[in-house]
Amino acid sequence: MIPLYPDGNRYYSFDLFCKQTFGGKTAKIPIDGGFGCPNRDGTVSSRGCLFCSDRGSGDFCGHQSITEQIQSFINASAEYNTSSKWSRAERFIAFFQSFSGTYAPIDILSNRYEEALSASDKIVGLAIATRADCIDEAKAKLLSQLCSRTFLWVELGLQTVHEPTRRAMNIGYSMEDFRIGYDILQKNNIPTVLHIIFGLPGETDEDMMATVDYAASLRPFGVKFHQLMILRGTPLEAMYNAGQITTLTQEHYTDLAAESILRLPHSTIIHRMNSDAAESDIIAPNWSRDKLQTINMIRHKLKIMSNK
Ligand code: SF4
Repeated sequence: MIPLYPDGNRYYSFDLFCKQTFGGKTAKIPIDGGFGCPNRDGTVSSRGCLFCSDRGSGDFCGHQSITEQIQSFINASAEYNTSSKWSRAERFIAFFQSFSGTYAPIDILSNRYEEALSASDKIVGLAIATRADCIDEAKAKLLSQLCSRTFLWVELGLQTVHEPTRRAMNIGYSMEDFRIGYDILQKNNIPTVLHIIFGLPGETDEDMMATVDYAASLRPFGVKFHQLMILRGTPLEAMYNAGQITTLTQEHYTDLAAESILRLPHSTIIHRMNSDAAESDIIAPNWSRDKLQTINMIRHKLKIMSNK
């Protein structure tokens, strides 16, 4: 039985979670916190994950200080017209999206998170995207202390549970490392969102559902689903142009995302149904340019599945 949530969706939407938790529409502000990534600076590798853009997955982040990025986003959202999805946002989550948001010494991490929290009284929480191998006990303690003052979650790039794919995509750490980082976060009661990519080269539908089933077994706070996108300037672009890899069709992705939602615990929040990127950076699939159309197709698919 597919549950119907109070907002009429057949999945636990991030918008619904925000209304329940913060009392109204809440927007995430993508921030570049000035962090690096061990998979890019030579510590693990200098190639990065093959799908990662040169902005370290923070394609919508600004270039100013943390405070300026936050204030300019809030000011811009106040000026948007009523058709903008953020036009009614009164509260904001500061989202450290670029590169690895826990990859720095503790005092630097603390300063940057505090700067975000104090940048505006409209900031109601923090979200921090990072790698599982950039989590340790000391960092988890810092995050845990912040959790007692604000709503905070950490986002980890699980992507796939299959080691050959992880190696082929140069993710740079194993599932064993992933589990160590994840378990440290759970031991410190830090809500965790898992990122999953569908359409990684060589993976079958069964392989992708095995990743979803693993994620479901962890009962995570949230999940973000992504279609593999070929972005300009990434190593995948050359492989794609050479005909070595293909991307999913919109219909195939829709089926995978809908099936995945059914496999997750009802309490897991779907923070994202599909990826987006700057228009000019998208090489393939072309349908990635219309994010809302894909979301509507997944909703429609869930509706059909619930009527069977
Ligand atoms: S871990 Fe994140 S920032 Fe680093 S290379 Fe991979 S996707 Fe990019």
